[in-house]
Amino acid sequence: MSRDNFTKKTIETLKARVAHRCSNPNCRVPTSAPAEDNKVNNIGSAAHIFAASEGGPRPNNAISSEERKSINNGIWLCSNCSVDIDRDEKRYPPELLKKWKADAEAQARTELGQKLPSNTDAIDTVAAALTGMPKNIITHAISNVHQATEISLSRLDSRFHIKTQYIDGSTSIGIFAKENVPLALKVDAEYTQEYAKQHQMLIEHGSDVEISTNGLTIEGSKLFEEIIKEAGTFSISSPKKKAIQKLWLVQDDTNLIESFDDIRGE
Ligand SMILES: [Zn+2]
Repeated sequence: MSRDNFTKKTIETLKARVAHRCSNPNCRVPTSAPAEDNKVNNIGSAAHIFAASEGGPRPNNAISSEERKSINNGIWLCSNCSVDIDRDEKRYPPELLKKWKADAEAQARTELGQKLPSNTDAIDTVAAALTGMPKNIITHAISNVHQATEISLSRLDSRFHIKTQYIDGSTSIGIFAKENVPLALKVDAEYTQEYAKQHQMLIEHGSDVEISTNGLTIEGSKLFEEIIKEAGTFSISSPKKKAIQKLWLVQDDTNLIESFDDIRGE
């Protein structure tokens, strides 16, 4: 049996069908590059899946000479891999090579027209992994984090509109009800006295209520249930307004009015 070589056209087609890369999935190196004097440096070859000649690796006497040199019997590999598969036939049976070929062609089909990652992309990816920040779009990253937080919290209860802020090391989450939402605030037994006292001060003097979230549960909204889970302080504050207290004394018999100095609230 003489050697059934592939035609030049078959070789070129095999090569182009895998985008000039080695078809071994563990290799995948590019197999051509420019050389001096407008020439091409080629480190790939069209290997035969079933032996091209008598005594060759992976023999198959059941196929014809035509089939042996047809494109179906070829696989594009780099020069290292093409030597490797012939030296270690058992490790690289024809079925495996056919799978490599099919996968490499499928990969080339997917990658056609797609941008491959550049060297700087790799650096940016590592920088992003280490810092948690994309290198080029830090300004967007900040707003993206806020948007993502707002969206994920809004999803817990769509009756609220969420606005997040991060100022001077503290995160604040603004929760604005779009409609009337009934909620139940439950204070644990050991915090009730403290809460009652502070609540009284809120009603009478407008001072803020501040109580640990450990002692609270809010029922009626998944959003509040989630937020309250985080350790922190729950506070209720009333809008503060400066007031001026005016006092007059009116004498019953004479109707004489005596006025006092205004007392200005701070
Ligand atoms: Zn290779």
